[in-house]
Amino acid sequence: MSDCIFCKIVEKEIPNHTVYENENVLAFLDIFPHAKGHTVVIPKKHYNSLSDLPEREWEYLAIGLKRAMEKIKRIFKPTAINIAINDGTDAGQVVPHVHWHIMPRYVNDGGGSSHSIVKNPGDMKVEDVAKLLVD
Ligand code: AMP
Ligand code: ZN
Repeated sequence: MSDCIFCKIVEKEIPNHTVYENENVLAFLDIFPHAKGHTVVIPKKHYNSLSDLPEREWEYLAIGLKRAMEKIKRIFKPTAINIAINDGTDAGQVVPHVHWHIMPRYVNDGGGSSHSIVKNPGDMKVEDVAKLLVD
């Protein structure tokens, strides 16, 4: 997409600090890092949302994630890692090109877990939710 900042990075119109790259994916340092080594992994093709992402691209993305994580672990030796995708505006997605965040974690870094993203369980009992979701 011509006005997409991440497409511009893929096209090298905007510079980036590449952590890992192959034919299908690019992993680069987040320009406003939340942790040392904070990296985003993107498909080279433009997809707004995970809902649009073909299965094959999921596979490419997962491999890119793995390779980038391995490198970050080797260099910075974080003691833990969070990986996260903000998919949709209500989930905090700002750049509308699918991307996977790698957040390296370090002892006493003051961060939380994925449980700290939201606390809004709704008023349905788990058993009633299960009736709708479980076959
Ligand atoms: P999200 O809120 O999941 O859409 O996150 C988008 C991320 O892209 C943010 O963490 C930004 O700091 C990051 N970002 C935006 N522009 C750039 C850029 N030119 N290079 C690297 N990271 C960027
Ligand atoms: Zn794009």
